[in-house]
Amino acid sequence: MGNWQNWAGNERCQATIHDVASTEEVVDLVAQITAKGGTIRAANGGSHPGALESGSFSYSPIVTNNDQHIVQTAAMADVTRRPGTNLIDAGPGATTWQLSNQANEQGLSLATTTLIPWISVGGATAVGANGQGWNLGTLSDQLQSIEIVTGTGHVRTYDRDVSPAGWNAASVHLGSLGIVTNATFRAEDRFKLRSVDTILETDDLIDQMPSIVTDAANPYVEMSWFPFNPKAWLKVWNRVPWDTPNKGTVHGIPYDVAQKDFGSAGLDFVAEFPRWTPAFLRLIMDTVTTNGNETIAPSAEVFHWQMDYPKVWDLCYALPITDGDFSAVQEAWRYARTLVCDSAKPKDGNCNSIDPLDYPSDATFPQSLMLNCRFLGGSSAYLSTAPDTNEHTCYFEVTTGAANKHYAPFFEALGLKLRQLGGRPHWGKMWGNPLTDPKAWQHWYGDRLEQFNEIRRQCDPNGIFLNDFTRMLFGESS
Ligand SMILES: Cc1cc2nc3c(=O)[nH]c(=O)nc-3n(C[C@H](O)[C@H](O)[C@H](O)COP(=O)(O)OP(=O)(O)OC[C@H]3O[C@@H](n4cnc5c(N)ncnc54)[C@H](O)[C@@H]3O)c2cc1C
Repeated sequence: MGNWQNWAGNERCQATIHDVASTEEVVDLVAQITAKGGTIRAANGGSHPGALESGSFSYSPIVTNNDQHIVQTAAMADVTRRPGTNLIDAGPGATTWQLSNQANEQGLSLATTTLIPWISVGGATAVGANGQGWNLGTLSDQLQSIEIVTGTGHVRTYDRDVSPAGWNAASVHLGSLGIVTNATFRAEDRFKLRSVDTILETDDLIDQMPSIVTDAANPYVEMSWFPFNPKAWLKVWNRVPWDTPNKGTVHGIPYDVAQKDFGSAGLDFVAEFPRWTPAFLRLIMDTVTTNGNETIAPSAEVFHWQMDYPKVWDLCYALPITDGDFSAVQEAWRYARTLVCDSAKPKDGNCNSIDPLDYPSDATFPQSLMLNCRFLGGSSAYLSTAPDTNEHTCYFEVTTGAANKHYAPFFEALGLKLRQLGGRPHWGKMWGNPLTDPKAWQHWYGDRLEQFNEIRRQCDPNGIFLNDFTRMLFGESS
């Protein structure tokens, strides 16, 4: 038994940790746990050099398994194109960077993937992790099939073209069907992405959101805002042929320095001296953005334009956009801005001031990093946070430094608002509240929860892959 904790340090447990390197080892492990009695959860984080102490990049209670077992599949990390096809096989321990980069090297591009490069294929597909792309789903929707060692010890392959019901369960499974040993992605002939940054008045960007996002000329859209700034940042990508010459620099100074080293030091500084938060955020915005900045690079580099992260708290909800109605997203952004401004109590009501003396000594600054909106299509997976295939969604996220002492009430209030606006909590991020009432989850997922549960019971009749959180979710007793 050892100490296990996630990267962020907000989820911990005592558990027996197992490392496996092949499907056969997974089958043996499942047989051992079944014979002894006990439960097992999979985890994958920790392969990033800066995060060796970590067991998982999820912030939520989807991995913890107190006094039980945790299996790490990080060693299963091969990424290989199937000859003569556009399919890529990836081990569950491959990072999303390895997946997209090796796909490029082998002549292919994923249509979309996550921004964060270090999370694993196993973890990211289990939660339906998102990148962006108005007509695309989540990373799970880029899968063709998935191989899972189930609770009965069988190695089962779920393929989207073979069994729709099985597929809808297996494409976002929260580690509850078994242990994934291989994921096969459908990719396309490789392409580059042209990325253009535009700096706009924040209110203009919020108002123009529907026309910008639904414009066919903008297939990939991301919007970001650093609090206490009258301006916001629009990032749009377009596909260009692979032989288009590269332009500009995606990775390197100033991004890497600004994102990790300067970002971490600055976040710690403003946690101690909060009235400097507006000035710090203005500096970050001015360092990492340039109006009209254009880069062209292989898709892998642009997807993962941010290669490093300071330690942050990260709250994220998927807000539905039904029939082109963006009002929930627009309202959420304005609400977050008002919460941040009200807490800062600026002397003349001006939250665009970066002068520390314009904020009183009892002001609080709960959000010391970014607000971010990424726009996607829907997903057929029963447990996807993105709604049904014919709808769209916005992943609405706020981040703040991990040393920030005032974030909790802000996350709580914003989480509540996002739920009121119809948002579904991102499985792998923070929610503002523990959300331990199964009725809330039934409200968000309706019949889909039970449809998933049916397949789950077939795969795991003895519940060996359950933990406290999923027991609550699936209505199982301990
Ligand atoms: C700084 C930061 C940035 C982030 N950015 C994004 C982002 O851009 N988009 C996004 O959607 N999310 C993002 N996330 C959240 C992230 O996607 C999820 O937390 C993701 O699940 C973490 O992957 P992991 O490899 O650490 O998996 P873990 O956290 O270890 O596991 C996540 C889930 O997958 C299951 N699992 C893992 N491996 C297996 C396996 N082999 N078999 C069966 N089940 C398995 C686990 O049981 C658990 O349920 C970010 C997180 C951080 C810390």
